[in-house]
Amino acid sequence: MYIETPLLESRALSQRLGKSIWLKMEAMQPTGSFKARGIGHACSVYMERGARRFVSSSGGNAGLAVAYAGRKLGVPVRVVVPETTSERAKHLIGMENAEVIVHGKSWDEANRFALASCTSADAFLHPFDDPLIWEGHASMIDEVARAASKPDAVVLSVGGGGLLCGVAEGLRRNRWDDVPLVAVETTGAASYAASLEAGERVELPAITSIATSLGARSVCAEALAIAKRRAVTSVVVSDRQAVGGCLEMLDEHRVVVEPACGASVAALDSDVQLLRDARNILLIVCGGVGTNVEQLKRWSAELL
Ligand SMILES: *Cc1c(COP(=O)(O)O)cnc(C)c1O
Repeated sequence: MYIETPLLESRALSQRLGKSIWLKMEAMQPTGSFKARGIGHACSVYMERGARRFVSSSGGNAGLAVAYAGRKLGVPVRVVVPETTSERAKHLIGMENAEVIVHGKSWDEANRFALASCTSADAFLHPFDDPLIWEGHASMIDEVARAASKPDAVVLSVGGGGLLCGVAEGLRRNRWDDVPLVAVETTGAASYAASLEAGERVELPAITSIATSLGARSVCAEALAIAKRRAVTSVVVSDRQAVGGCLEMLDEHRVVVEPACGASVAALDSDVQLLRDARNILLIVCGGVGTNVEQLKRWSAELL
C-alpha cells in the first residue's frame, strides 16, 4: 500500500542553515504523497470490515490515494469531484481505474453528493479526520525511529491536520513524545494558526492560498487537542515563500512538490526560536502530485 521512503540528510539545506536537516521523502510514495500511508491503512481495515466500495470526494492527493488503495486491494472506488477539478487530477485518479464523477460547483456540493450516494456496502474515506488515517501516517515515524536518532524538532505542513495527528501518534509510539512539532501553513490557508490563537476550532471563510492541499477551512478537533498535550509551534509562510521552497527542492533534490510541501521547506528560514536552537531537524517532505515544472515556472514568474 505504501513504500518505506528514503531518509536523506540534505547537504544543501544543512550547509545553508548550519544544522542537520533530514528529509523524510514522502514525495517518493507511489501516489506522490504521504496520503498513501493513512488512507491505505484505513482502506485495508474497511475492507476487512466488509466494505465493497470506497468513496471519496477529494480531487487531490487524498482521492488519488483512495483510488490507488482500491486498485491494490481489488475494491472498486468512486471519487466525486466538483467541476473546478483539473483535468490532470481527474486523469491521475482515472489511471488508477477509479470511477470519477463530476458533480457540483464546489467541493461542498461534491462532498454532499458523495455522502448521499453511499450505501451500507460503501466506506467513505475522509481525507484527514479519522483515527485509522493517523495510525497509518504514523508508520513514517516508525521508519525514522529505526534509521536515525531523535530529532530536535519535526517540521511538517498542516491542511486538515491528519499528517500532524499521524506524526504525533508516531512520536508517541516510539517514545519520542518530547520532540516539538513545527506546524506550517500558508497565508490564506492558515486554519490551524487561527485555531491555536483562538484556543478553539476556527472556520476560515475562504481559502485564498495556491497551496490547495492545505486548504481545509477548519482543522480536525484532534489537531487542536494535540497542541494541548505537546509542544506545537505554528509557522505561517506566504505563497511566494512556499514556491521558493518548491524551487529549492527541485534545484537541490531534483524533486517536484506542491506549494503545500514547499511551505515546510520555506519554514526552515522562519525566525522561530525553536528552529534557531534545533541542531537536528526532521522535515516531512509531504510531496503532492498537484503541480508540475510548468506550473512552478508560472508561479515563480508571478510571485518571485
Ligand atoms: C494532504 C496534504 C497535506 C495536508 O495534510 P493534512 O493531513 O490535511 O493536514 C499537505 N501536503 C500534501 C502534499 C498533502 O497531500
